[in-house]
Amino acid sequence: RTVSAYTYPLLIKNLLQAPAVNDPQQEIVYRDQARFTYGEFRQRVCQLANALTEIGVKSGDTVAVMDWDSHRYLECFYAIPMLGAVLHTVNIRLSPEQILYTIDHAEDDFILVNEEFLPLLEQIKGRIDTVKEYILLQDGQQQPETTLTFAGEYESLLAESSDSYDFPDFDESTRATTFYTTGTTGMPKGVYFSHRQLVLHTLSGMAALGTVVNHGRFHQQDVYMPITPMFHVHAWGVPYIATSLGIKQVYPGKYTPDMLLKLIDKEKVTFSHCVPTILHLLMSHPLFNELDLSNWKILIGGAALPKAMCKAAMQKGIDIFSGYGMSETCPVLTLAHVTDADLSDDEDLDIRCKTGRPIPLVDIKIVDEKMENVPVDGQSVGEIVVRAPWLSQGYLKDQRNSENLWRGGYLHTGDVACRDKHNYIKITDRIKDVIKIGGEWISSLGVEDLLSAYPGIGEVAVISLPDNKWGEKPLALIVTKPDYEINEKDLVQYIRSFIAKGMISKQIILLKFKFVEAIDKTSIGKVNKRLLREKYMQQSC
Ligand code: ADP
Repeated sequence: RTVSAYTYPLLIKNLLQAPAVNDPQQEIVYRDQARFTYGEFRQRVCQLANALTEIGVKSGDTVAVMDWDSHRYLECFYAIPMLGAVLHTVNIRLSPEQILYTIDHAEDDFILVNEEFLPLLEQIKGRIDTVKEYILLQDGQQQPETTLTFAGEYESLLAESSDSYDFPDFDESTRATTFYTTGTTGMPKGVYFSHRQLVLHTLSGMAALGTVVNHGRFHQQDVYMPITPMFHVHAWGVPYIATSLGIKQVYPGKYTPDMLLKLIDKEKVTFSHCVPTILHLLMSHPLFNELDLSNWKILIGGAALPKAMCKAAMQKGIDIFSGYGMSETCPVLTLAHVTDADLSDDEDLDIRCKTGRPIPLVDIKIVDEKMENVPVDGQSVGEIVVRAPWLSQGYLKDQRNSENLWRGGYLHTGDVACRDKHNYIKITDRIKDVIKIGGEWISSLGVEDLLSAYPGIGEVAVISLPDNKWGEKPLALIVTKPDYEINEKDLVQYIRSFIAKGMISKQIILLKFKFVEAIDKTSIGKVNKRLLREKYMQQSC
């Protein structure tokens, strides 16, 4: 399709119109290593586009990035799609075989690679078929030891390139990005998003984040630092949102609790987002207690926010709240709107831990197996199905799974939830994680929430294992906090007290406990229930 003179395409380049002129002095910081103004950022995006063009990148090519969170990554978020090429954000936490699979499957033409991942590429390079050139990303100056050859080093290439580029207009439905799900079953699956989808996700996200936050909206005085990797769902799309709002941004490189906390303190970070397990790591670090975090807003997603964690963060003055989405949905679908100032502490806590309300333009239904809406009573559960302008149209080169994803004209999330009369959605489980005992469905997240509030429990994951008599039997894997000893009989009494109050099914009395050193996580740091099921099933056999 050609672009008519009357249409203004929703292209990523147009997201840069406002911030580049509104506040060119605003800063973009990379760890303790570099800082740039928005004005310089804009020039660097042009330099990168010129450098890539010189190397041979053309519209329609796929350009992969393997980096930790950096100013460079942000520049790639813009320059690569603005050339009409597709940005492939490689999940560098996958195994080398899975990484090779994603590079081949996406048919990457070029790879920008951080020197830290050279040993990884060395392992698979003989088997990479499509890549024509590599570009080296590095923080220092020292030539890395490697047998790979490069078209150039990022900073030198930029320094040699002109800082203006006349980015073309093209069809807004052109593919802009692609990346792979974390591969909980089999090989990772590729999802993809167009310019139009990313622009609309950004605009809706700006509107939603501008209204949800209790301590004040996400606005120009904020300082943003992601703690969800940029390779995973564009760091939930927030770098696009923050740039569009002209907000100061801090990119922390490789995540270490020490560096993250120091940056929050030094750069006065006020807004971040992460999965609960990462917040748990930060909260367990000695520096956490020393810092004043009363200006910090944190969006928790990717997994349910446990009430105990939410309460502890709020006691520290942190404005913590949930959001919900998935790789296939770009990702944001809902945010916990804490809008009512007159809530009791308990009600406030409850709302922050629910998955929230749909953000603008999102059409969510909670349905039974026949695709009929379940009652809106805060109890009846069904699967979340969704439509929105920014959902992946399917999985790359995988028709069977794409059709399954989009059954009946809605994207099927595989998440089980209920909705209350105020329209707050609460995820009770993933379909595959629900515990089914004697025909009854019990929410594994509900049981985890109760257990995580028990003194001495640091981390907990509840899984179910096959059982001849009951169908399934639940097992709670528990990591005890340092200096605590947990008595199993007391724990059983604790669970019984909730059964007595009718807060949980009496079948949960079958719950067994196993105290473990650590709980396995996925490549983005979430609890890996599939792996846990496999591991503990074998052990119990
Ligand atoms: P993965 O499939 O590897 O976990 P995703 O990032 O795509 O990677 O995960 C999306 C899933 O995470 C959702 O389908 C849902 O099960 C879960 N999730 C995301 N946000 C929440 C939330 N706020 N509460 C409960 N579960 C959530």
